[in-house]
Amino acid sequence: MTQIESADQIELINRSSSYTVSKSLICAKIPFFNELCSSQGGEKFQVNLNESSLESVINWVHSDCIVINMNNVLQLYEAADDLQIASIKSLCQLFFDENFSAKEIPALIKLVRDDNSLLNFNKINSFLSRNFLRLINGEYFLEFPLEVVKYILSLDTCVETEYSVFQAILKWIKHDKLRGVHLQELMKCIRWCHTFKDCYVHIKEDEFIVKNLPQLDELACEPGECRNSCFNKRVKEKNLISLLYVDDNIMSMSYYTGDNCWEPCGTFERDNQMPIGVISEEHVVDVIFNSGRTGIRIDLVGKKYRWLEMSGSSSAYYNQLYDCFKPKFDRESSYRAYIQDGVKKIDHWVDLEKNTLIENKGVMNIICYPRKDEKLYCFLPVEHVDWYKHKFADHRVHAVILNDACYIITKSLTFRIFDMVKKTIEKSKPFDGMNYTFEDLQLDSHEANVILLIKSQKKVMMFDTRKKEWTSMGQIFSRYEIMALVSTDIPVQFIKKLYSKKRVK
Ligand SMILES: [Zn+2]
Ligand SMILES: [Zn+2]
Repeated sequence: MTQIESADQIELINRSSSYTVSKSLICAKIPFFNELCSSQGGEKFQVNLNESSLESVINWVHSDCIVINMNNVLQLYEAADDLQIASIKSLCQLFFDENFSAKEIPALIKLVRDDNSLLNFNKINSFLSRNFLRLINGEYFLEFPLEVVKYILSLDTCVETEYSVFQAILKWIKHDKLRGVHLQELMKCIRWCHTFKDCYVHIKEDEFIVKNLPQLDELACEPGECRNSCFNKRVKEKNLISLLYVDDNIMSMSYYTGDNCWEPCGTFERDNQMPIGVISEEHVVDVIFNSGRTGIRIDLVGKKYRWLEMSGSSSAYYNQLYDCFKPKFDRESSYRAYIQDGVKKIDHWVDLEKNTLIENKGVMNIICYPRKDEKLYCFLPVEHVDWYKHKFADHRVHAVILNDACYIITKSLTFRIFDMVKKTIEKSKPFDGMNYTFEDLQLDSHEANVILLIKSQKKVMMFDTRKKEWTSMGQIFSRYEIMALVSTDIPVQFIKKLYSKKRVK
């Protein structure tokens, strides 16, 4: 028995269930049925939706109350999308952005569908590829089942070398004694045809491989004789981009195409409504600069951007990264040292400021001052959650990490190179008499060069890390102020060209 007046009754048939509901109520709350009733009329409607999702929606119509969790959010979103219920869609979006973490990947991969805009294969694959190094340095990855690990290792992940893929395999295999049997199978995921000789030797000579996979030569392959699924080369160069302030809420971007040419990508408008969840559309990128202290999120297709809050609240950038990947801290092998004039290892705990936070190969590092001491301090890598979550202290060092060396400029404009492997420090004063101020500088890298931007002068200096010398990269002439010059992984295929170019000879 229902409370519905018979004149107001309609029947909704969905797969194995049929619901008798109030037409006026359903049409008032669900735009899809409202359109259907007014265009078709009748008392019986057939739909084809996930059963528990439709029932949740019907309950919501009658109670204004809906329960969302990670198990139902994708299907509920899909149903709300089909039924055009904007409020449920945005609740799902909010819930998903706030609760998504790498831990959910194995369960989500089974539910992903291509026509779901909340999460589809493009989105999850781009998330896994871009965050591959963060993922494999986190705790959640270690608990993934074999098929999910294989799935991830088969993607075009953002790695600088196939050695990172090897490291991922070792981490996962070593986490559980019983996983040794999968070693050979996973080693086939390395794209051997695109692995450099020295990298191959490095893998072959690894202690664990010598012991557990001495027949590596039989498994690996070479171009022309591919025995695995090497497809394309996944190692990708980063793009050097420049960002300029055009107006209070407008910025412009260009990227370096080589040979002194910068291709403009047009302007971007500030939009504080852009979602800031750690998983985003493929064409949305986070650009971090200023020694990890500043970041913006750019939507390359929507031509929008917003500033990121870096640390502090639970939705801040680093806080989200921590929650999403749960970095596994390796306190035993982490190295802390003063790097003032010489390198002096530190074994006891010291209270530190948070002056920088620099990501290198998916691991965060910090170069900072102790609270009580004026000595420059080096702390590699980050080994406590507070480094993610605490706010930054004063800006006292510019730093960038490149090929196992850390390049530092202090307030006195001393330039230091800390060799992270040999644990040595070199010190020089290349900017004496050049009229620079600490606040006016920004340090980044491109390929094998350290890049120094002098913002007010719009000059760019370049330090060749092989020749160890500074040269001028040029001066930018523009009426706009420079926001940043930064190397980043940017999916340039999403940028609409302002002009086209083709080869004619
Ligand atoms: Zn475990
Ligand atoms: Zn191959």
